[in-house]
Amino acid sequence: MKKLKSIEQVVQSGLCIGCGLCAVVAPEAWKLDTEGPMPLPIRIGDDAGRGISVCPAVHGTRTLSAESAATFPDLDQITRMGPIRTALVGHSLTSQRSLSSSGGMLTEYISEILDSGLVDAVIHVAPKAGGGFEYVKSKSSEEVRASCKTRYFPVDLHKLAEFVADESKVAIVANPCFTAAVRRLSQSSPESFGAIQHFVSFFCGHWKSKSWTEYLVACSKPSKGELIDYRTKIADRPASKYGYQVEVNQQVETSLMSDVPNGGWQFGLFKPLLCDFCDDVGAEMADVVFGDAWLKPESEDALGTSVVLVRSATALASLQSASAKGNVAFTELPIKRLLESQNATLRHRQDGIAARIAIRKIGRKFVPPVRVKPSLTPTRTNLVSLARYRLAKRSNIVWGESREVADSVSHFNKRLKFDYLLIRLASKIPTRRKI
Ligand SMILES: Cc1cc2nc3c(=O)[nH]c(=O)nc-3n(C[C@H](O)[C@H](O)[C@H](O)COP(=O)(O)OP(=O)(O)OC[C@H]3O[C@@H](n4cnc5c(N)ncnc54)[C@H](O)[C@@H]3O)c2cc1C
Ligand code: SF4
Ligand code: SF4
Repeated sequence: MKKLKSIEQVVQSGLCIGCGLCAVVAPEAWKLDTEGPMPLPIRIGDDAGRGISVCPAVHGTRTLSAESAATFPDLDQITRMGPIRTALVGHSLTSQRSLSSSGGMLTEYISEILDSGLVDAVIHVAPKAGGGFEYVKSKSSEEVRASCKTRYFPVDLHKLAEFVADESKVAIVANPCFTAAVRRLSQSSPESFGAIQHFVSFFCGHWKSKSWTEYLVACSKPSKGELIDYRTKIADRPASKYGYQVEVNQQVETSLMSDVPNGGWQFGLFKPLLCDFCDDVGAEMADVVFGDAWLKPESEDALGTSVVLVRSATALASLQSASAKGNVAFTELPIKRLLESQNATLRHRQDGIAARIAIRKIGRKFVPPVRVKPSLTPTRTNLVSLARYRLAKRSNIVWGESREVADSVSHFNKRLKFDYLLIRLASKIPTRRKI
């Protein structure tokens, strides 16, 4: 398939990431169905091509370098991450640090921009009444602090127009592909979306379908209930060795991620297809980007440490203001160290993507436009990439049948035994390349 010409074709291709923006720009034509593993648009009328104009799967990342250079004209482009003003490493100095998933810098940041009046509202993710998570709009730092935490759950932006109506200065917290799409929307339709002026993002290894949440619950000690925390800090363990919490009959049970069979991020279980064709690691259209300091010695601290990639001068000033108030502490981080903190993602998303593009092209399937050329050179990175690509696709299918059987976790992992073996074998090939 050469080009995707309609939202139906995006959905058929499997590349829909469920952002809901087609339903935002053409609400008479599209409605978002949020019942399945991923949100998906359903046609309710004729959109005359408006929906597809905002779709991140169709747009891809090929024009991102030019777009980010135009958005941040005073900055140099740093290979692999887009424009950078400075990089920082640090953490919250308040009780926020223990409440947040990482170092708490993201929540301190959005609290600061609300308190300082840089924006009047922040669009961010919070628990949903009745279970799951959703985008909400908050107007106070108390509200954003109360709903901190990373949610590995497929949230969507179908309420975006409602959130920005009657607002003049709004910030949004979103993954890199939603950030780029919403920034484009605010630039191209200032009359409707120009109020969205500040873009806060995070390093995004990949997205997860709802099946990830079901799988974690099935792997937990109670094996049923509601997943309420994806990242529970465990005292005296390194930050990366976190747990998760499931609530059942008003009892909260903590399980360790290391006990989840094949639950490591390197396996990429329940990853949506688009993530395997996305090279935007640095959230290149965001004013500021937060992530985990997966660096030693910082990662040894159970309380969590944040890395921050700063683009706009306003973002740097807000961080300095939060520091002057004693809410955060940070130091400058050499760019090389920032790249090291995202090493695994960079390797899979910007190097290994070459093999995935090549395979998809051989299958004559649409490939979202990216900045990497196809390659099937049999390197370790390419072979691991292809093994993971196969597992990600199959995990979504196989869970569909496994979730219905009594011992769903064993059934699922037995059916994927060969896929895990391929990844383990490919990972044993010696590597020469380093960033
Ligand atoms: C799907 C996903 C993948 C990620 N992959 C990586 C990675 O590979 N490497 C890395 O360094 N960091 C990654 N992160 C970011 C990391 O997990 C932390 O969210 C980030 O470091 C901020 O931590 P904090 O303690 O400062 O944030 P907190 O104070 O805990 O606040 C988190 C904020 O993120 C928002 N949020 C939570 N879930 C979502 C969501 N699904 N979509 C949009 N906003 C959300 C909340 O509204 C809240 O404002 C990922 C996050 C997500 C959601
Ligand atoms: S990725 Fe977003 S814009 Fe594209 S089809 Fe899916 S919901 Fe619509
Ligand atoms: S990996 Fe890319 S496509 Fe997937 S959710 Fe993150 S930014 Fe979007």
